[in-house]
Amino acid sequence: MGTKTKQSLETLTAQGMGYIDPTTKSVNPPIYLSTTFERNEDLSYHEDRVYTRADNPSYDLVTKLLTRLEYGVDSHLFASGMAAAVAIFQALNPRDHVLVPTAVYNGIRTWLRKYASPWGIDYGFYPNNDSDGLLKVIKPGKTKLIWIETPANPEMQMTDISLVTKIAKQVGATVVCDNTVATPILTNPLKMDVDIVLHSATKYLNGHGDVLAGVLITRKKSELWKRIVSIAHDGGAIPGPFESWLLLRGLRTLYLRMNKICDNALKIAQFLDNHPMVVSVCYPGLPSFYDYDLAKTQMNGGFGGVISFHLKGGKEKAINVQSKTKVFKRATSLGSVESFIEHRKSYEGDGSSVPEDLLRLSIGIENAEDLIEDLNQALRA
Ligand SMILES: *Cc1c(COP(=O)(O)O)cnc(C)c1O
Repeated sequence: MGTKTKQSLETLTAQGMGYIDPTTKSVNPPIYLSTTFERNEDLSYHEDRVYTRADNPSYDLVTKLLTRLEYGVDSHLFASGMAAAVAIFQALNPRDHVLVPTAVYNGIRTWLRKYASPWGIDYGFYPNNDSDGLLKVIKPGKTKLIWIETPANPEMQMTDISLVTKIAKQVGATVVCDNTVATPILTNPLKMDVDIVLHSATKYLNGHGDVLAGVLITRKKSELWKRIVSIAHDGGAIPGPFESWLLLRGLRTLYLRMNKICDNALKIAQFLDNHPMVVSVCYPGLPSFYDYDLAKTQMNGGFGGVISFHLKGGKEKAINVQSKTKVFKRATSLGSVESFIEHRKSYEGDGSSVPEDLLRLSIGIENAEDLIEDLNQALRA
């Protein structure tokens, strides 16, 4: 694969693992649409490829790159971030106890509320950055999984990953970290003893708002990991070959995009922090943010592209501001090259604890001054 000398992750990422097609010498990989693979005369399988549900060659480069980016030993693609999350829950046994942080991606909370009980899973919540609070809700012998999301949606609460993995080790629980918002460029949870990292690849990894996909990356090929992979194989909640190809294409610019996104986001957060219509800004890169010290030690080279802020004038002002933006697009989701603004409470609906006065921004790679001017005129209007 042309990677004999030790190359930096930045180079491997830019070159999509340095692939050159052996037959045509094309510098971009083909997309293998074939659903099946011919068997050898002696019934063995060429390269162990049997059927596309598990063995499509279009998955190979992208999973290898993601494994390297997160310092893992193996990774697996899913049809979405939620499909990846659900595969983890499905790999548990009835009566296993799961702990998720109070501030957690809305889809995870919704899935647990609807399906955990019928599935026989017991679940509870712990405060995102309070290890005493976590210790209080652990059920010794029963807590099998501790979920981390840091920074967490949408108010950017941080969790001290090393502290949670230390506690989890004492009680024999597996730790999963949703690293979607931080990306592998800014945080590598497996290096802090997390067992499995989850990404909604729909967000920063693909980065262009045109692919739905998820990925899990593991630190060890544990029994739980093998069960998760077999759930993906037997259930088939995996992306198609084209999505996998697009994901590798998007990943090639991950370093560039994250650098620009972090630069832009810090400028915008500073602008909002000084704006008279803004009550407070939730962004881990601001010294005024209550988890700034943890963010500084746990995140490397930037603080990501998600910013939330509370407005003077509450819900009415928040809705008014988002109605006035022209550069920011009024859309949910995050991690794309274009910037989004969202009134999160009205997206999450009843049962959401997100305050009504909050707007969430996902910062893209546009000109920072254009974005600031757009917010400035919308706040003034
Ligand atoms: C979007 C998102 C997910 C879910 O991913 P999908 O690809 O939309 O299924 C999970 N976690 C976080 C933090 C997300 O932002």
